[in-house]
Amino acid sequence: MTNSVIDLRSDTVTRPTPAMREAMFRASVGDDVYEEDPTVRALEHETAARFGLEAGLFCPSGTMTNQIAIKAHTEPMSEVICEQTSHIYLWEVGGIAFHSGASVALLAGDRGRLTAAQVEAAIRPENVHYPITRLISLENTHNRGGGSCYAFPELEALAEVARRHRLPLHLDGARVFNALVATGQDGREYGRLFDTVSVCLSKGLGAPVGSVLLGSRAFIQKTKRIRKVMGGGMRQAGYLAAAGLHALEHHVERLADDHRRARELGAMLAARPYVAEVLPVETNLVIFRLHESQPAEPFLAHLEQHGIRASSFGPQLIRFVTHLDVDDAMLPRIGAALQAL
Ligand SMILES: *Cc1c(COP(=O)(O)O)cnc(C)c1O
Repeated sequence: MTNSVIDLRSDTVTRPTPAMREAMFRASVGDDVYEEDPTVRALEHETAARFGLEAGLFCPSGTMTNQIAIKAHTEPMSEVICEQTSHIYLWEVGGIAFHSGASVALLAGDRGRLTAAQVEAAIRPENVHYPITRLISLENTHNRGGGSCYAFPELEALAEVARRHRLPLHLDGARVFNALVATGQDGREYGRLFDTVSVCLSKGLGAPVGSVLLGSRAFIQKTKRIRKVMGGGMRQAGYLAAAGLHALEHHVERLADDHRRARELGAMLAARPYVAEVLPVETNLVIFRLHESQPAEPFLAHLEQHGIRASSFGPQLIRFVTHLDVDDAMLPRIGAALQAL
């Protein structure tokens, strides 16, 4: 056990726990394209309830839930306002252009976070030269921002701008439960602000596959056809949904442990002479920059020799992620490897 690999590359690398596997094994299933899978329905219902939204749509990935939401909210020649390092723009293969034929208004955030004033200034006035602004999309926690969280009053101000301009507000909530746990907020408070929310079950929650898109009943009805054309209509998906339901019940509160471990890793890194900067650690992501004298590749190779895997996140930038498969006993091993460099 002491020699097991410590995988800090992402919170997507977790494997289902024995209890989760048991829940999957026992799941009642049916054909979900016929809307006959009771476990998928239960997951969609339970996730929606946690955000006080009406309905949910279970999909294979967070990329799909985001892109389906964008397609349903926009049309060609319209525009999405988002942050320049947001996942929907940077890491979804240009899907906004590909699936929706829409443009993007890219704003520079503070570690990924936009302000209400910034967003309001980006809304297009009526002019035949411009695309029509159709959607505002936020990301919380923000991946590239190092797991940063919005303060709730700023989200309220952003929602107020959206409402005043009659624009829908979407949340890429791949790690929304990390944000809720870190800020002590309830999902239903978010549900009052956002029209649609994408929630990932396969990140910190530790399920093997799946994301749920949440919104009004009418909106989710519309998204079913888009999911089908993208090839995301699944059949006996209840086996996967069962893992998600188990995760919602058992793996949300424990995110606080991931956050504590991430803070400890952040402190260890800040004390190393070859680390130039550690972004403030708010949740389970630790992004740090190496000094120019310490190239990233040999640093990662050194960790690998100690059985620790991490990912490069740009020139001199490294990301450590804590998750369900990182425990307290691993922290001294990581500390020793960092000191040995
Ligand atoms: C991981 C992630 C997604 C979705 O990724 P999939 O791998 O497609 O499930 C979306 N947004 C953010 C911020 C993410 O980190």
